[in-house]
Amino acid sequence: MKDQRLSSRYRYDTIISMGLANLLNLIERIGNLLRSEERKLLKPLELLPIHLHILYYLSICNKYSNNPAALTKYLGNTKGTTSQSVNVLEEKGYVLKKKTQGDKRLVNLHLTEKALALLERVSSESSQKILDEKDIEVAEDVLRNILRSIQVSNRNRTFGICMTCDFFIDEGGGSLRCGLTREKLLEYETEQICQEHEPVSYAV
Ligand code: SF4
Repeated sequence: MKDQRLSSRYRYDTIISMGLANLLNLIERIGNLLRSEERKLLKPLELLPIHLHILYYLSICNKYSNNPAALTKYLGNTKGTTSQSVNVLEEKGYVLKKKTQGDKRLVNLHLTEKALALLERVSSESSQKILDEKDIEVAEDVLRNILRSIQVSNRNRTFGICMTCDFFIDEGGGSLRCGLTREKLLEYETEQICQEHEPVSYAV
């Protein structure tokens, strides 16, 4: 009886892990196809997909996260690789480096008009051709949950938004605050991703 229970448990675990393996395989294949589309679009500009990922990150991150250190963590690259890619973007006029207020040794990275125009072009020429908006939302939710689970289990930074962060304080009357930095936040800033994000714990 015990052997039978063990063998059904084994079959169940195997099915689950096969399902996960299939899913990861699909994600990998989709990623490869998208990468190849990106390469075609970026080749005439002498840019690589990594450059586009950096521009995308800078378009969605908040003021605590638009710096080389946070970008390195987000990409999971080495400091040197990130720095080389940022330098290429700076030379080509897609990124501006500005000294951080309060600490002149650090820099913040800002997108130029040229970068915004490129992101706009990529967005209109890519996924919207193959998926409608509803499908994109559903896929994004599922993939975001998988990513979050992997990040939490690997103890990586989650790069989430304020609404799902333990530090976020809604003071009422439209006043929003980051409990970590104690600074007030504007509404649009609460929708940008943050390197300091700490996932809300629902444990009681
Ligand atoms: S509340 Fe959390 S996510 Fe929002 S700015 Fe503060 S640390 Fe970042």
